[in-house]
Amino acid sequence: MDLTKCEICPHHCGVNRTQNEIGRCKSTDKVKIGLYSIHHFEEPCISGENGSGTIFFSNCNLNCIYCQNYEISQQGKGKEISIEKLADILIEQQNKHAENINLVTPTSYVLQIIEAIKMARKKGLQIPIIYNTNGYENIETLKLLEGYIDVYLPDLKYYDNKMGKTYSKVNHYFEIATKAIQEMYRQVGSPKLDERGMIQKGLMIRHLVLPNHIENSKKILKWLKENLDENVYINIMAQYFPTYKAKETEKLNRKLTEQEYQEIEEYVYQLHIKNGYMQELGEHEEEYVPRWDI
Ligand code: SF4
Repeated sequence: MDLTKCEICPHHCGVNRTQNEIGRCKSTDKVKIGLYSIHHFEEPCISGENGSGTIFFSNCNLNCIYCQNYEISQQGKGKEISIEKLADILIEQQNKHAENINLVTPTSYVLQIIEAIKMARKKGLQIPIIYNTNGYENIETLKLLEGYIDVYLPDLKYYDNKMGKTYSKVNHYFEIATKAIQEMYRQVGSPKLDERGMIQKGLMIRHLVLPNHIENSKKILKWLKENLDENVYINIMAQYFPTYKAKETEKLNRKLTEQEYQEIEEYVYQLHIKNGYMQELGEHEEEYVPRWDI
C-alpha cells in the first residue's frame, strides 16, 4: 500500500497523493497536524495524573456536521511537518511525562505514522500508543498497524446507515466500523491496566449519544453487548452540544435532554453492560464530569 493510489481508508479514492492529488480527506503525502498538547480530559485510564500526549491530525475521512474539532478536521487548519518532526514530537510528549501518545484522527496518515513510530522507538519511545479514530477504517490498513498500536480507541457512531449518510456523508458506516472494531480487538484484546490504573493495551469504544436519536444509541449498545468481549470498555458520551453545521440542523441543534440521558442510562443497566461508563449531563459543554461507576 502506498500513497500513489491511495486506498488507505474505505473511500478508496485512488488518487496520487505524492503528486498533490486530493481525495475525500484532502490530505496530501505531507503529514499535517492541527496541534499537539498534553490533554487532561480524556477517560481517567488515559489521562491519568500526567495527561495524554495528544496529537490532532488535520483533515478527516468523515465529514461530521457536528464535529467539535471542525476547524482542524474539516477546514484543514494545521501545519505540515516532516515524518522526522512527527517522531520528535512523539519523543517530546514522552519527555513531558505524558501517560501515552494519543493519535487523534490519524487515519489518512497511517503510513507516515508507522515510519515516525519506528524512528521514535529507535530514540527510546516506550509509552503506549493510542489510535483514536472515527472507526471508518480499512482492515488492510489496520493490519499494517499491528505491533505499532497498543490501544485502539474507535468511535462507533451509527447503527443506522442513513444517519451516517446524513450526518457524516459516508456509506455503510455500521458494517465498516464494526468489522474494523473486530480487527482492532484481534490485535489488542480487552484492556490491560498497569498498577496505577493506566491503560497499557486493549480496545476501548466511544459512542456519542445524539439528541433525537436514542434508538440508534440503543441499537449500538445492544450490538456491543452481543458481539464484543464484555471486558472491552464502552464509553457512552453524553456531552453532545451543537456546533459547526449541526447548529442549523433541526434534530441536532440542542443538547441531550435529561429524559434522553436517563433512557440510555437505564438501558445500559438493563443490558448488564459490564464495562460501560457514562458521563454526567452538564449544563455547559465543559462541565460534564466523567463518571466511572456503571
Ligand atoms: S485516506 Fe484520504 S485520499 Fe486516501 S482513500 Fe481515504 S479519503 Fe481517500
